[in-house]
Amino acid sequence: MKKNNTLEEIAAGLLRSNTVLLFPHISMDGDAMGSSAALCAALRKAGKTAHVVVEEALPDMVAFLDKGYCTENPGLSARPDACVCVDCGEYRRFPKRKELFCSGALTVCIDHHKTTVPFLDLNRIDGNAAATAEIVYDLIPLLGVEIDAEIGTALYAGIVTDTGKFQYSNTSQKTHLIAAKLHAIGVPAAEISIMLYQNERMEKRRLESRILGDAELFAGGRAVISCITRKILEETGGRLDETDGVTEALRDIRGVELACLLKEKADRTIKVSLRSKRDFDVAAFSEENGGGGHARAAGFTAKGRSVEEVKALLMRELAERLP
Ligand code: 5GP
Ligand code: MN
Repeated sequence: MKKNNTLEEIAAGLLRSNTVLLFPHISMDGDAMGSSAALCAALRKAGKTAHVVVEEALPDMVAFLDKGYCTENPGLSARPDACVCVDCGEYRRFPKRKELFCSGALTVCIDHHKTTVPFLDLNRIDGNAAATAEIVYDLIPLLGVEIDAEIGTALYAGIVTDTGKFQYSNTSQKTHLIAAKLHAIGVPAAEISIMLYQNERMEKRRLESRILGDAELFAGGRAVISCITRKILEETGGRLDETDGVTEALRDIRGVELACLLKEKADRTIKVSLRSKRDFDVAAFSEENGGGGHARAAGFTAKGRSVEEVKALLMRELAERLP
């Protein structure tokens, strides 16, 4: 049985390593990218060779945080000294990079998903952290590195996105104190918001309007569901990696406790995104279906069924289970 480690143990493991590779989860969000970019910058400042290894193109929303950290192939001549999965805690969240990850002499997990269990040599999983960026904020000084504006920008982006702009119940006093400290060192908060939220492609807006227009209420108006098929992507010109914020828009409807967005990733491979407002534990429901996440934001992938089939099954199951 692997255990949770202290941040000091994580820092010591990283400081013993010369080459460190960081592995954020697929469908990268602001926290996965922000935490990885911040840790990568800090490790480089500490004199390490560090890269963020990715297996997909960077989503538009987070691309501005990549200041030369991300690569699909780090091109190392020897096996990495340490491999760290960031904002995720299972191989399924970085499937094409699993082999490279496991080649690390030391493997480390830094995550805040409550569905993650310690599974590597060193693990720091803190389900109370609003974002993985909060954990990285505490870790960086233990590497002997000062947080500068560039590192701070990446951390701030992670915190803003995972707290829904400081709105969700994961937002704590500590979250605000970290944000205040980041302001104090000159992190450009308003500019980060523009990059994250006021920089959308028109096609994304057309896709969103289609998703909202097609949405169906069920369970007496306590739940809502909408689907993105490949046909809808073609018609709107939108992309599957630019649907951030849409499940939240569905959740925000009055009376809705639970929002579901189905995304047809490939034929009979459907990504399900779930959001809840108050009581329904979407992490537990997603875990039962092979996924995971947080109590109010989680997801899983359904294979072997069409969008319509997954939709019908979900509506039946969730209508029964909604309190
Ligand atoms: P999203 O709906 O935005 O893709 O994901 C919401 C949250 O649930 C994120 O924190 C994300 O990391 C997590 N999540 C989404 N899909 C999965 C999954 O298949 N497995 C696990 N473990 N977490 C997921
Ligand atoms: Mn996160």
